[in-house]
Amino acid sequence: MAATRIELWRGEEYEVRDVTGSASTKSYRCPGCQQLIRPAAPHVVAWPVVPSLLTSFTGSGVDERRHWHTHCWKRR
Ligand SMILES: [Zn+2]
Repeated sequence: MAATRIELWRGEEYEVRDVTGSASTKSYRCPGCQQLIRPAAPHVVAWPVVPSLLTSFTGSGVDERRHWHTHCWKRR
């Protein structure tokens, strides 16, 4: 499993992990451009370090994972 790093988005700290194409079998909607990320396309996954109120009852910020194109995350 790849290591995560901490980056900022909208003033919040997010854990970010690179996803290699071979580990990706589904398509996801990128919040940066609203386009689909194709299966097997390398991309990044980000989730808040501090869970929002919506998910603080159910567990962790991992429930709020979002998949981004790598270039969209860099330009967020
Ligand atoms: Zn995108």
